[in-house]
Amino acid sequence: MLQKNGFRYCGIVHIPEDDDPRYAYEKVVRCGERYYLKNELLTRYHDEEWGKPEHDAQKLYEMFVLELFQAGVSWELLLRKRENFRSAFDNFDVEKIAAYGPEKIDALMQDPGIIRNRRKIEAAIGNARVVLKLREEFGSFSNYLWHFTENRSIPERMDAVTDQLSDDVSKDMKKRGIRFAGSVTVFSFLQAVGILYCHDPECLCFHRDHAETFAQNHYQPENRVSGGRNDR
Ligand SMILES: [Zn+2]
Repeated sequence: MLQKNGFRYCGIVHIPEDDDPRYAYEKVVRCGERYYLKNELLTRYHDEEWGKPEHDAQKLYEMFVLELFQAGVSWELLLRKRENFRSAFDNFDVEKIAAYGPEKIDALMQDPGIIRNRRKIEAAIGNARVVLKLREEFGSFSNYLWHFTENRSIPERMDAVTDQLSDDVSKDMKKRGIRFAGSVTVFSFLQAVGILYCHDPECLCFHRDHAETFAQNHYQPENRVSGGRNDR
C-alpha cells in the first residue's frame, strides 16, 4: 500500500545507535502502540481502517453498529466477530435492518457468532430507521455526519475521550432518536471514521492520508518569481 502511493519511506524512521551506522536500523512508526499494536489483527485495523476518512454511508453505519456493540466488550473481540456480524446483519444493509421484526430479533438472539444483547440489537435496528430519515433529510448518512465539520477532518488528540464536536454530534443524534449515542461512543466513532483525525503526524497512516495534499502542493516552476539564483 505504501509503495503504491509512492511514499515508501514515510512513516519509517532511521534509528541511529551509538552513532555507529553499522548498528543503525529502521523502524516503522505507528501511533497508538498501546491500543492497536497488540497483535496482527489490531495492527491491520490501525493501518487499513482506523482514522481513515470514510464517506461510504453503509460503512459508516457498520462502524456505528460496531461501536454500539462495543460497550462492555473489547474492540478486538468485535473485530474477530465482524464477519459474523456482517452475515447476521445482511451486510449492514440499512433498509433491510430497518425492516427487522421480532422474529429476526429472536433469531439474532440465538446466533452465537455475534454479541447476543437484546438492547443492542434493538438499538441497531432503531438506529437504522433513523439513518433512513437522515438519508431523506441530508441525502445520506455520510452527508449528515460530515456536515458537522463542513466535510473536513478535524485534528484531535488520540488519547482524548470526548470533545466539543462529539458532545454536539451526540446531542443531535440523541435528539433524533439514535440510541447508544453518548459522547464517549460518538467520539470513538468519529475517530474511527476519520471525522476526528487522530493519527500522530509521525504515523505511517498520517502520511498516507495526506499524500493527496502533499501531491497537490508540489513545486511548480512556472509560478516561480524572478530574482532567484538563476537570474544572477
Ligand atoms: Zn496511526
